[in-house]
Amino acid sequence: MRLRNIPGAREHLKESSYVIDTPEEWKGHWREYFKNDNPLRIEIGTGKGCFIVQMAQENPDVNFIGIEKYSSVLLRAVQKQEEAQLTNLVYLRYEAELLEDVFAKDEVDLIYLNFSDPWPKKSQQTRRLPCKEFLRLYSNFLGADGHIEFKTDNRELFDFAVDEIVPGGYQILQITYDLHNDPAMNAGNVMTEYEKRFSGKGNAICKCVIERSGAQVTLI
Ligand code: SAM
Repeated sequence: MRLRNIPGAREHLKESSYVIDTPEEWKGHWREYFKNDNPLRIEIGTGKGCFIVQMAQENPDVNFIGIEKYSSVLLRAVQKQEEAQLTNLVYLRYEAELLEDVFAKDEVDLIYLNFSDPWPKKSQQTRRLPCKEFLRLYSNFLGADGHIEFKTDNRELFDFAVDEIVPGGYQILQITYDLHNDPAMNAGNVMTEYEKRFSGKGNAICKCVIERSGAQVTLI
């Protein structure tokens, strides 16, 4: 998601109490940050925050962190939270590539990857958030029993992601190629901005839920 640059976005984020400016300082201490022992779920590439705000509203006993690299996009998510004022949701303006600096081993219980950018060229595939290199990175902070949930309407990206699961050190728990017509997997589904937009055009939504396989993965 690319928005035109919004003047003042960075400054607004810097001043907002819902954006953690130096998240590295909380590595290993996020439960202290939230002042409870509730599970921690993160959304990487949170966009304008529609999904994570609703998730945080519906799950007050879970802590949520939304992560987005572009200030002008994150600004929209932060403005939603400034209205909602939820105590279980904060944001980071951060790059997925650097998240090891922010989360300690086993600190995250669930990772959402919603409608990740497709990066269609083969030369760009290591930028796709569900690629095996990222999956291995996530293992450094996702708990052993943790899950990753990935949704997209982009069939090419989904097929790519499914092929990356085993090399990335994970296994499939649940999979569907038509989420909205799969009563079991769609139960309690919260739609993202992109999901509303693309399902509104008639596109089927693919979703998989994966867990760490525990297999020894050789880092390249
Ligand atoms: N998750 C939202 C949704 O489903 O409506 C937004 C989807 S949008 C296509 C993908 C978002 O991921 C963009 O806002 C983009 O800036 C963000 N993103 C892509 N790569 C990222 C990275 N490496 N680190 C953090 N955010 C990233």
